[in-house]
Amino acid sequence: MNDFAQIRQRFPILKQTENGQPLVYLDSGATSQKPQEVIDAITRYYTLENANVHRGVYGLSERATEAYEGAREKVRRFMNAVSTKEVVFVRGTTEAINLVAATWGRANMNPGDEVIITEMEHHSNIVPWQLLRDELGIRLTVLRINQKGEICLNALESLLSERTKLLSITHMSNALGTINPVKEMTALAHKVGAKVLIDGAQAVPHMKVDVQDIGCDFYAFSAHKMYGPTGIGVLYGKESLLEAMPPYQGGGDMIYSVTFERTEYNVLPYKFEAGTPHIAGGIGLGAAVDFMESIGQDKIAEYENQLLQYATEKLKAIDGLRIIGEAENKGGVISFIVEGAHPHDMATLMDQDGIAVRASHHCAMPVMQHFDVPATVRASFGVYNNFDDIDCLVAAVVEARDMLL
Ligand code: PMP
Repeated sequence: MNDFAQIRQRFPILKQTENGQPLVYLDSGATSQKPQEVIDAITRYYTLENANVHRGVYGLSERATEAYEGAREKVRRFMNAVSTKEVVFVRGTTEAINLVAATWGRANMNPGDEVIITEMEHHSNIVPWQLLRDELGIRLTVLRINQKGEICLNALESLLSERTKLLSITHMSNALGTINPVKEMTALAHKVGAKVLIDGAQAVPHMKVDVQDIGCDFYAFSAHKMYGPTGIGVLYGKESLLEAMPPYQGGGDMIYSVTFERTEYNVLPYKFEAGTPHIAGGIGLGAAVDFMESIGQDKIAEYENQLLQYATEKLKAIDGLRIIGEAENKGGVISFIVEGAHPHDMATLMDQDGIAVRASHHCAMPVMQHFDVPATVRASFGVYNNFDDIDCLVAAVVEARDMLL
C-alpha cells in the first residue's frame, strides 16, 4: 500500500457504500471528510476534558484551556503567523470576512473609498462588501477574469489607485480551481497603500500557506474544508491592524473589565472572541493541522496535482464535455459541463453510481455568468482520493451523458 492508500484508511466514512456502490467522495471543495484522529480528538475532549475555558481555576478547566490554546499555537505555526495574538477563532471563512468588513471596514472606510475583488469570488467575499458599500457609500470594483479563469496582474495594477483601501481576493477559486498569484497581488496593492484580505478557504487544504511570505494583512479559512470540524475557522490579521480595530461582538471573554459606564476590552485575540468559544472545534482543528502536517502540505499538493492532471486528461477525452476553468496554476477542482445535459441531472444520475459530486453555481454566480452557464458539475479532490475514484467518475459521466442525450 502506498502512503495515500494508507491515509485513505484513516477516513471511516469512506468505508460505507452509497446506493449499493462504494462511496466515491469528490466533493471536498464543499467540505472534506474527517480522519479518525480528528474524530478521536473531539470525542476525547467531550469524554475526558469538557469544561469551559479561560475562567476556571480547577484542573479540568485548565486542561480544556491548554488543549484549546494549544490548538491556537498549532494554527499559528501552520500558517506562520508571528504570534497567537494574530490567530482569531471564528465560525469559518464567511464570519472572518464579515468580521473584517464590520470592524476594519467601518472604522477605516469613507464614502468614495474602494474595495477591489475579483470576478471569481465566492459569495462570502462579495456580499459583505456590498453591504458595506450600501452602508458607507464606498465603491466595489471587480477585477475581471479571462476565458481560462485567470486574473491578469497588469489589469489589477491599472485598477489600483490611492482610492483603493482594500484588495479582497480568493487564494484558490472553489468554482474553477484557479490559484491566484496572491503574493504578487499583495505587493501591488501595498504599493498604493491598500490592505489585502485573502480568502484561503480552498487553498489551505491543498497547499502550504505562509502568511508572512505572502505579506497579506488578513487571511481567512475554515477548518471543515481541511479535515477539521464545521463551525470553526480562522481569521489571521497582522497584530497592529487587529489592535487598532474595534471589537466585533460584545459579551463575555472579550472584556477585561465592565462597569455600566465603560468596558475595557480584552487583549488579542480574545477581543474578537465574544462568548463561550467552539472549544471542541478548536481542538478538532488542531488535530486537523497535525493530520495535514503528518503528511506534509507539499506532498499533498503534489499528489492532488497528479489526480488533477489524470482527471483533466480523462474528462477532456469525453465527447461533449467542456471543462470550465483551465488556468495554468490550478488546484484539485474540476468544473465541467456536458453540452445538452443539465448539471443537476448529471449529478443525480452519478449519485446512483455512488459518486458524490456537486452540481450548482458553487456560491459563485458571477463565475457562472462569465462562462454563460447556469451551473457546473464539480469534482474536487482530497488526500483520500485515488486514481480509481477518477476512473469511476469518468465512467459515471459517460453513463449519465448517454442516458441523458
Ligand atoms: N470562500 C471560498 C473560496 C469557499 O470555497 C467557501 C466555501 N465553499 C467559502 C469562502 C465559505 O466558507 P464557509 O462556508 O466555511 O464559511
